[in-house]
Parts: sequence; structure tokens; C-alpha cells
Amino acid sequence: MAKPLSHLLSTCDFGPEEEGAVIDVVRSKWLSVGERTAEFERSFAEMAGAHYAVATSSCTAALHLALLALRVGPGDEVLVPSYTFVATANPILYVGATPVFVDICGQDDLNLDPSDLSEKIGPRAKAIIVVHIGGFLADMNQIMAIAERHGLSVVEDASHAVGAQYVTEGPYQGRSAGSIGSIGCFSFFANKNLVTGEGGMAITNDPGLAHRIRLGRSHGMTQTSWDKAGGRADDYDIEDVGYNYRPTELTAALGLVQLRKLTAANLRRQELATRYREALAAETKVTVPFQERLAGSSHHIFPVLIDNPDSRNLVRKRLKDRGIQTSVHYPPVHHFTHYRRQCPQTRLPRTDDAASREITLPLHPLMTGQDVDFIAREFAAALKNICR
Ligand SMILES: *Cc1c(COP(=O)(O)O)cnc(C)c1O
Repeated sequence: MAKPLSHLLSTCDFGPEEEGAVIDVVRSKWLSVGERTAEFERSFAEMAGAHYAVATSSCTAALHLALLALRVGPGDEVLVPSYTFVATANPILYVGATPVFVDICGQDDLNLDPSDLSEKIGPRAKAIIVVHIGGFLADMNQIMAIAERHGLSVVEDASHAVGAQYVTEGPYQGRSAGSIGSIGCFSFFANKNLVTGEGGMAITNDPGLAHRIRLGRSHGMTQTSWDKAGGRADDYDIEDVGYNYRPTELTAALGLVQLRKLTAANLRRQELATRYREALAAETKVTVPFQERLAGSSHHIFPVLIDNPDSRNLVRKRLKDRGIQTSVHYPPVHHFTHYRRQCPQTRLPRTDDAASREITLPLHPLMTGQDVDFIAREFAAALKNICR
């Protein structure tokens, strides 16, 4: 029986700084959106190279506000990958628009395929949602060119890609994930690279979009409680229907500490991911995707594809018995019951293929090199025993 790697389960790097930041908020007795949230927004915008950032209660909320701000609604189509978490697609249904699922490039690149994207753009298309799977940026040169040609807005779901850069030569070289399309959305959920438990952010360079997102976050109100408490406002107007998608000051306090750790944490992920790649290089039954897109990645997850989909459950079970927790990114959205009803005609052969063979191995900055070696060894042994 192998030693259980229980520390592999706790993926978030919280210490005395986070504790102190939370205590400060509690002692300040101001818990709802206030000066810490404003500071988190400013710091985040600076990191991501955007003019405006609006903190939200989640990335799902940020995506919903992004589509509303872009005036996507009933009758519109939104092009979106199916190879993603369902929260990328759900906001399209919130606004009454229709998702049109686009295939991925293939087993070496799990991101949106620009050619399939072009083919699926119809007369009702209004926007594209791009996901940077695992923190590896999608082919933004081509995707932005296609969007421009058809007059479509681009929203980046950068949930995996906080702190990632686009390094490919062209007009967007050097830009951060989320700052290339009209609006970029981020998640600070407990398993992401920057953790506040729950929380999200929308960034944009467009003041009009930033204004609409900010209003939508808080009931459509023109003034906040913080403005009123500060004597800056007595009354307010409602300019549009809004929601309560506000984060709390606790989110911002954690976020500010985590933001300071982000560069080092992402670099650590890169070291570990490189070690995995080296350890698995000789395995003929495994494909490690994104070999061509490594530079600039935030290495949110470490996805691998095994040859035989029928072996996946057995391989995962064997790893679990050895104390190694794996997951699957992702069961495609168009396979879920609700989306089968919504989009029964969807056919995405490359998404289906990759999704049936994918296993996500543990990766987070608190792991050691020895953890990686152990997991790679156990994974190779599992393949050898199971995938004949
Ligand atoms: C985590 C995640 C989301 C949802 O983020 P929340 O903050 O939990 O709403 C959306 N899209 C992708 C790709 C994600 O990984």
C-alpha cells in the first residue's frame, strides 16, 4: 500500500498573510463592496493590462454580465466550445441566446478550432466565447481576425488563464489572457490559480462596457452603499435591470494577497508541468497536449490523453488506490441532458474523442518534484498493466 498523498488534495496556498487580511476586514466591520474591492480591481486591471476591472461574485456572474453588456439576447447565436466547464455556456441561456458549439483543434490542442468556428458562423451570430483550456491561450490571432470579419464580439473565459500571456507573434503578442477580446472573465473559485473561495472578475478596455457591467453587478443602481456611507451620494437611480453579483471585502482581501503570489505560483506550476512532460516523454500510449503552446501558459491543470478510452476508469481507479486523485476535464457540454435537448444536432468528433480519453493528473504549486515523479511512475505502471 502506497503512502496516501493527502496533501495533494489541498491545492490552495493560504498562510498567515491571508489570515491577517481576513482579520483586518472583520475588524474594519465593512464587509460589503468597499475600498478593498476597489483596490483589488485596480491591482487586477494592472496585472492583466486592462483599463477597467469589475469584481463579481463568480466568473459565471461575470460571463452573464459580459453578455448583457454586449447586448446579446434572444435571437442571437453565441459560438462557444463544448470542451469546457458548463459555466461557460450557461450564461448564453440566461440571456435567451442560442449556443452554437464549436469543435476543438484536436488531441494536441484542446482549444477552439478557428476553421470550425468560421464554418459555424451564421447570420444570427453575435458573439464568440473563447476558453483558454488549462491556461494555454487559444489561437487569438485567427479568432480575433474571424470575429472582426463577421462583426462579432469576443468574450474570453480566462478562468484557467489568470496571469497567462499570449506570446504568439502578431497584433496581440505580449497581451495577458482576458485582455484581447472585448471582455475577459476570471474565476477565483477554490480550485483555480488565484483563490478566494468564490469570486470572479470582468476586465475590459471599453468604458461603456465597464459601466454596464458595474451597474449590472449591483441591481442597476447608479450609486453604491459605499458611496452613500462616504457621503458621496444620497439617492440613486436604476438605469437598467440589474442583479446582485457583488463579491465581499473578504474576497478582495484574499484576492490582493493571492495576486501578489500569482507570478511565483504560476512559475512553480510551470516547473512541475515541465517535470511531468519529461517524465512522460517516453510513454507511447499517452498524448500530452499543448506541446506547441507552452510559453506563457498559467498551467492551471495537467491534462493527458490515453490511447484507449475504455481503459480510463480502470486507470483512474488504480491511481485512486495509490492515493492519487485524478479528474476529467471535461465531459463535453453538448452531452449533458439539458444541452442535448437544446442543441440536438451538435456533432463535434474531435471534442468527443479527446474528452473520452482525457485524464487530469494532480498539479498545484504546493506539490514537490518527488510528488510529480511518483505520480508519473504510478501512471505509467497503470497504463502498462491496464492498456495492453
Ligand atoms: C471555474 C470555471 C468557470 C466558473 O467559475 P465560477 O467562478 O465558479 O463561476 C467557468 N469557466 C471555466 C472554464 C471554469 O473553469
